[in-house]
Parts: sequence; C-alpha cells; structure tokens
Amino acid sequence: MTATIEPSQAELLPSVRNFLSGTKRFLVGGQWVESASGETFETIDPATGQVLTTVARGGAEDVDRAVRAARTAFDEGPWATMKPNERERLIWRVGDILSERAEEFGQLEALDNGKSAGIAAAVDVAWSADIFRYFAGWATKIEGSTVNVSMPFVPGGQFHAYTLREPVGVCGLIVPWNFPLLMAAFKLAPALAAGNTVILKPAEQTPLTAILLGEVFEEAGFPPGVVNIVTGYGDAGAALSAHDDVDKIAFTGSTEVGKKIVDAARGNLKKVSLELGGKSANVVFADADFDAAVTGSLNAWLFNHGQCCVAGTRMFVEDSIFDDFTAAVADAAGQVKIGPGLDPTTQLGPLVSQEQFDKVTGYLAAGLADGARALTGGKRWGDTGFYVEPTVFVDVKPEFSIVEEEIFGPVVAALPFNAEEGVAKAANSSIYGLAAGIWTKDLSKAHLTARQLKAGSVWINQYNGFDTAMPFGGYKQSGWGRELGATAIDLYTQTKAVNIAL
Ligand code: NAP
Ligand code: MG
Repeated sequence: MTATIEPSQAELLPSVRNFLSGTKRFLVGGQWVESASGETFETIDPATGQVLTTVARGGAEDVDRAVRAARTAFDEGPWATMKPNERERLIWRVGDILSERAEEFGQLEALDNGKSAGIAAAVDVAWSADIFRYFAGWATKIEGSTVNVSMPFVPGGQFHAYTLREPVGVCGLIVPWNFPLLMAAFKLAPALAAGNTVILKPAEQTPLTAILLGEVFEEAGFPPGVVNIVTGYGDAGAALSAHDDVDKIAFTGSTEVGKKIVDAARGNLKKVSLELGGKSANVVFADADFDAAVTGSLNAWLFNHGQCCVAGTRMFVEDSIFDDFTAAVADAAGQVKIGPGLDPTTQLGPLVSQEQFDKVTGYLAAGLADGARALTGGKRWGDTGFYVEPTVFVDVKPEFSIVEEEIFGPVVAALPFNAEEGVAKAANSSIYGLAAGIWTKDLSKAHLTARQLKAGSVWINQYNGFDTAMPFGGYKQSGWGRELGATAIDLYTQTKAVNIAL
C-alpha cells in the first residue's frame, strides 16, 4: 500500500468551491428554505475529518411542509395534467444535465463520501444519468390492459372492462450515504416517470449531491413541489415514514432501520419498498479462470471501500485452490492504492464517517479476537482520515461476527467448500439474500448453482453485474420489491380496475 499526497482543494472546480461556500438550504415547494427550527448540521470530508460546509437540518415540521407541497403538486399542480411525453422530456433533461455536469457531481460526491472523484463521475453520475434517461422512456409506456370479463352472475350482460395504471401519489424517498446520488436516482426516476411527486431525504453524512440535484430539477423545468428535498437526520426520515399524507416510502439502508420504517408505515398502511443489507456469497469453483476470479472477487468486496449492500464479503473457495486463491486475493488487496478521493490515482478511499470507521475497526478486532487470521490488512491505514486497510480473513467459522454480520468496510471472510458436499447450504445460511457471485467455466454448474442460491441478483464470471434494465432487490431480510427495470414501475404505480356495463 502506497502513501499518497494530500490533494489541495485548489484542484476543485470553481462551481464546486462556490457550492461549498455558505450554508446549504433545502428545497420545498420550489423554494430554497432554512429549516423551521433554524438548525443546521455540518458535513465532513472523510479524507481529512474537516468540515466541508453546513446544511439546514430539517425536522418533522419541515417534512410536513414538504409533504403538503408534494400533495398540492400531485393533486392540483401542472404535474397532474402533464402529458407523459412532457414528463419524459423533463426527466430526460435531468439525465443530460447530469452528464454535462458529471465532473462537478463527481468531485462533490468524492468530498462528501470519500470515494474517488473519477469513479464517482464515471460510475455514480454516469449511471444516474442513464437511469433518468431509461425511466424517461418509461413515462410514455405505462399501460393498463383490457380484460375479457365473463361476469357469471349477470347472464347475458355486455361489459367493457379495463385497467388503469396510476401513480401511487406522494412518495417519500429515503437514501443512504454509500451511493448518495445513485440511490436517489434509483428512486426519483421511476417515481417521477410514473407521475408521482416526491420528498427526498438524503443521509446526514452525504447531503450535498442531493442538494445539487435539486438545482438540476429546477434547471430542467420541473414544476414547484414535484421534487422536494429535505436534508437532516434520522428523525426527518422517521417523520416522513410516519406521515399520514405520504402514500409510499421507498428506502435503501440498514435492515434495522428498514424494520422501523415498516412499523412507522402502519398508521396509514402506506406502501413500502425496501432495499436493505447484505452479506453476499461469492463462490469460486476450482475450474474458474483463476486470474479473472481473483480480480473479480477483489472487486466484489472492495468496490466503494466495501460500502456496498451487495458486497461479496463471504468468499467461498473450493478447497483444492483455497490456499492459492486466497493468497492471490490478499496479494492483490495489498497492492491497492489508498488515498483521498480527489487524488486521481486513488483506488481505495476512506470510509464515510468516524462512526463507520469505529464500526469496521471494531469488526477487525472482533475477527482477530475470535481467532481469524488476516492474510493482509487487519487495521487502520495511516493516522488521519477514516482509512482502513483492505483485509482478507481466513481460519474463520460460520458463527464469527465477521462472517454473519454486514461490516460495510473493505473486509472479506474466506471459507473453503468441498464440491462433493456442495456450497449452497453454507452460502444460503444468512439472514440476507441480496446478491451472489459464481466463478466457473462449467456452464451447467453455473446455471445450477444460480438456481440454488437464495439471492435477488446472481452474477456469473463477474461481480456487480448491474444494468438499469435488470430488476434489483433482495430475498429474505435484504428487502421488499425490485428496483430498476420494468419492476420499478410496479413499485410506483397502482392498478385500478374499471368495469362498464354496456
Ligand atoms: P441507516 O441508518 O439505515 O440510514 C439510511 C437512511 O435512513 C438515512 O437517510 C438515515 O438518515 C435514514 N434514517 C435513519 N433512521 C431512520 C428512521 N428511524 N426512519 C427513517 N429513516 C431513518 O444506515 P446508516 O446508519 O447510515 O448505516 C448503518 C449500517 O447500515 C451500515 O453500517 C451498513 O451495514 C448498512 N447500510 C446499508 C446500506 C444498503 O445499501 N443496503 C446503505 C447504507 C448503510 P440519517 O443518515 O440522518 O441517519
Ligand atoms: Mg459527508
């Protein structure tokens, strides 16, 4: 692991520097406002621990104002009568502006989250733009159907029956800090394509790109109140989840908070979709392309510093290659370039916050105390910023916390398996079921294993094989519903059955 030079904020785009000067307000009913309480909070650069800027701290009163603005825009505003192709053009425009401003969004995401600015621009921002364009196209393709009814209790009657697909209404969108802009795009684009109005609540650790995105919605020409953004803490998310005039909550984050949202939704039985935690299995068979599997398996748990809900953090390796394979992964992990997100050569940045740093280093200590052996890593990196060394644990047992629990850091636990006994039982022994990886050259083995694994996404001879058109979501405690693809439209529409006696 090589040291790196602290990049200067002078390298920032003038627009980013300008954005960071002065307290950031949030967007309610087309107005940039302070919170009702006047409170603000600081957002931190995880590479240095320094304050980036201060942000208005919204609470229950602000959420209520935002919900009223969204309700008015939904019921009475121009949004309600806008044609699908008009919505399409507005949403497409958001994608185009994001593409034009990719570097700016990438830098801001890097500063707030710690990830590489280059990767943020190329992955987080570029993919978000793609998502807005993909769902812009859906706005004109949401269809009901005609139903050939029999109506057995009305002999001889003639009927014309059909279904309408209608928006759910006012949607609360609560997103985490690991992919702040991208997780917002996952929800905003289909929600708006389907004709809903929204209140977005970004994570307290990473509010900045959500605020900048608010400016993009204004620039694109969205009517006031269609997109509202309230920055704040968990209490703002809780107020949104419990609000009686919110029709739906879409949430990405921890399984623990997901369960709180389900409880909060009881009051008005609002619809809920959840994308929660994971402890995904990455299965490497002895007949895999060794080098491709090493690179792919490293990416599986290291991408975004391990702060991925889909991270392949339980690496099951066939026993005959276990020692060689884990040594190769550890060797590759040891060569990863660590540094701040603004350094273009950085491959692994800091964790997002002191809290996550404490949590991840706590797991490292617990793993070592339990008797696991670190082939590489095992401790913090450097003495400033929230950096952790990429860590490969072997000699682990299924009951160790590093094997069972979501760590959300650059840490993998490697477990051997025997091909005769099979790998599915061990791989499926988790409360989660978000994603899985399989590495083999044997086509039948790949397909059969894919069927056996209880996971919402299975990637073969690759990891993180996402596409906007592919549904994404979890089995078991990894969530409810499927984002992206056509299935995302299901999350933001409801069906009305209309039956006419002729
Ligand atoms: P989290 O608490 O689940 O936060 C996700 C979002 O929910 C944030 O916007 C958060 O706001 C909000 N929130 C917090 N409490 C809420 C409540 N009672 N009602 C409604 N919304 C609420 O996640 P975290 O604390 O940032 O991270 C904790 C762990 O969750 C991580 O270590 C990781 O294991 C997991 N995680 C998973 C994902 C994923 O993609 N599946 C993403 C992030 C984290 P505040 O930010 O203001 O608290
Ligand atoms: Mg921050």
